[in-house]
Amino acid sequence: MAGNSPRIGVLALQGDFREHIASSLKAGHSAAPIRRKSELEDIDALILPGGESTTIALLAKSYDLFQPIREKISQGLPVYGSCAGMILLADRILDGAPGQETFGGINMTVRRNAFGRQVESFEGEIDFNREKINGVFIRAPWVEEVSSDVEVLSMAAGHPVAVRQGKLFATSFHPELTGDLRIHQYFFEEICR
Ligand code: GLN
Repeated sequence: MAGNSPRIGVLALQGDFREHIASSLKAGHSAAPIRRKSELEDIDALILPGGESTTIALLAKSYDLFQPIREKISQGLPVYGSCAGMILLADRILDGAPGQETFGGINMTVRRNAFGRQVESFEGEIDFNREKINGVFIRAPWVEEVSSDVEVLSMAAGHPVAVRQGKLFATSFHPELTGDLRIHQYFFEEICR
């Protein structure tokens, strides 16, 4: 890692990767879209955007990125996933598409579209790291069950919606859509360092 500033890569196959790149740049970091395996070698941390987890996983396979990302995760690359990105970091999923695979890494079970069964999308104030933040939830997953090595950082509707396990961090909500940089800063400062 160069100095204190990690080079951020954002998986740019589908979803709101542009917003994550913009948030990373606003937070003062370099950020590049990742579409090739070789580009994984030039980053110190990876962001998996919101979007459609099934599509992102299928595209990652056809771009020959699926296995390389799994390897990077097991080697300890810091990774942040928002919404679809949270699903992609889950070891186990509920309500997945038939045969849906994830990169995994966080020892948890995530339910896809969990809030969506009641309401498609909503915003609400949630606690994160002893602060109040505005959570934007869009067809969002929630965490159904975590192992004891997973730290729960936020709750909504009685379920974890922000979790961390080692260098892996995931939120059900989309800070990249709010202009509030605190979630990204938490990832860069508390996890990437
Ligand atoms: N429901 C989507 C999925 O299953 C996630 C939604 C989102 O990222 N906003 O991938």
